[in-house]
Amino acid sequence: MSENQFEQKNLIIEAAKTLGFSRIGFARASSLDQSAERLTQWLEMGYQGEMKYMENHFNLRKDPRQLVPGAKTVIVLSFNYATKNIQKDKNAPKIAKYAFGKDYHKVLRKKLKSLFSTIQEICPNCQGRYFTDSAPIMERDWAELAGLGWKGKNTLLIHPQAGSFFFLAEIIIDTELPYDSPMRDYCGSCRRCIDACPTDAIDKNGYLMDAKKCISYLTIELKSQIPDEFKDKMDNWVFGCDICQDVCPWNKFSTPHSEVNFFPKEELLDLTSQDWHALTEEKFADLFESSAVKRTGFNGLSRNLSFIK
Ligand code: SF4
Ligand code: SF4
Repeated sequence: MSENQFEQKNLIIEAAKTLGFSRIGFARASSLDQSAERLTQWLEMGYQGEMKYMENHFNLRKDPRQLVPGAKTVIVLSFNYATKNIQKDKNAPKIAKYAFGKDYHKVLRKKLKSLFSTIQEICPNCQGRYFTDSAPIMERDWAELAGLGWKGKNTLLIHPQAGSFFFLAEIIIDTELPYDSPMRDYCGSCRRCIDACPTDAIDKNGYLMDAKKCISYLTIELKSQIPDEFKDKMDNWVFGCDICQDVCPWNKFSTPHSEVNFFPKEELLDLTSQDWHALTEEKFADLFESSAVKRTGFNGLSRNLSFIK
């Protein structure tokens, strides 16, 4: 790699930090054969449940060069959403921390658009595309390859200085830049996430998730009724679940984010158990106006609320 390429990489890192991204890593665009093999096995086990979209675009998922012709580099970015904010009523139905503020898809997309324009100024003639949970990309595998952390036993990406409460985003470009190296796995003999999961969604040896059993899937992705076997196992979660992150010792090292878009409405944190169960469609529309919680719709959230009653 030339000195100019190192300089370009540094300028991109600086621009990403200015936009609020926490970490940025670079990986060589290539075919993810081993990850694709694991994905095939996971799909064959039926662990995707109703998420049929996981079965689509397999070739695009396997190789980013199919998404961006001539792709040379996958840039992976993390954006912190760790917070000390908590819902005040301990008995209130719970929503995952990532959904406390505005929908991250919209917030990060804006930042990615800006960063991509800057990259095109830094690297003339550079072409590419940017994504945040919006394309068939194995984003945790790319994040691992780009040195942003390791995939823990809870299957999430973990960074030794930041834990796991962060979003991931990717920019795939046709320009070659210096690449980073993966880091080792620091889960060791820990199995807190496996033991704490109330629905046994994580395999007993870790690193494998039956999404059909995960509360995040049950409360957000599943469109039909939540199966009775999960009655009394939801631990009061009605949108997502943070248990396997809350118990992870690496999250002790996370620091609260300062992104105003992700600050929660006080009103949301103040809702009592009674308020939640009396939620009207009008109140739902007002409270979750620009939130990811809108994804379930009022009916979906009402279904989840009835299930935990
Ligand atoms: S998010 Fe909750 S239900 Fe899903 S694996 Fe983690 S602890 Fe289990
Ligand atoms: S809780 Fe322990 S085993 Fe699970 S991801 Fe964190 S460090 Fe790894």
